[in-house]
Amino acid sequence: MDLRSIHIAEAVERLLKTIPPDVTLVAAAKGRSIEEVEAAIQAGVSHVGHNYVQEAKPIIEALGDRANWHMIGHLQRNKAAAAVRIFDMIETVDSMRLAEAIDLRCARLGRTMPVLVEINSGRERTKTGVLPEELDDLVASITKLKHVHLIGLMTMGPRFGDPEDARPFFKATREAFDRLSAQRLPNISLQYLSMGMTNSYQVAIEEGANLVRIGSGIFGPREGEA
Ligand SMILES: *Cc1c(COP(=O)(O)O)cnc(C)c1O
Repeated sequence: MDLRSIHIAEAVERLLKTIPPDVTLVAAAKGRSIEEVEAAIQAGVSHVGHNYVQEAKPIIEALGDRANWHMIGHLQRNKAAAAVRIFDMIETVDSMRLAEAIDLRCARLGRTMPVLVEINSGRERTKTGVLPEELDDLVASITKLKHVHLIGLMTMGPRFGDPEDARPFFKATREAFDRLSAQRLPNISLQYLSMGMTNSYQVAIEEGANLVRIGSGIFGPREGEA
């Protein structure tokens, strides 16, 4: 094993020790090589997230059956066909038009896609995700789709700074999760709350996250980031 793989393996082992057993670690692998992702899988990572369909494709083709593959970046509708061929879960559904595109492509393949709805919990204009006040309508519409199965919610929140600054975003998302769960809508089963990154995953877990998406905490800083 090269030095890089050893660092990755040590980071994964450390994280898996600190994360409760009912919380799933998703390795956020944007910008990482096949070798780096493979090292994480070898060390015990079972879920890997990617932000871009094109970048994920060769990696999933190489390592496909060794992990579950999550789309965690903003998905353009014209990439839906390619996305449903390679991903096991799409965490970033934020409009009915996107949900319908996924539904149509899955119908053609005879499969159903598990999805999360991404909430823009901070109402940040630069961020993707459905606005909190539009969440209920979107969820109600998604329940009508046959080939899309809504299984939870995802939010980004701030990536840097004091992790406590992210807590209100996580709390709001958790509250939305609980409120929707209580509605007992047909055709959805809310199981996953995806929140928290390297900087904030501990706060996210305290607020109820059971999927945490960690990139630099596994693979080291990305180029251009300290
Ligand atoms: C990059 C990214 C992460 C991981 O961020 P880190 O700070 O590197 O842990 C998580 N989720 C999404 C959607 C990302 O794009």
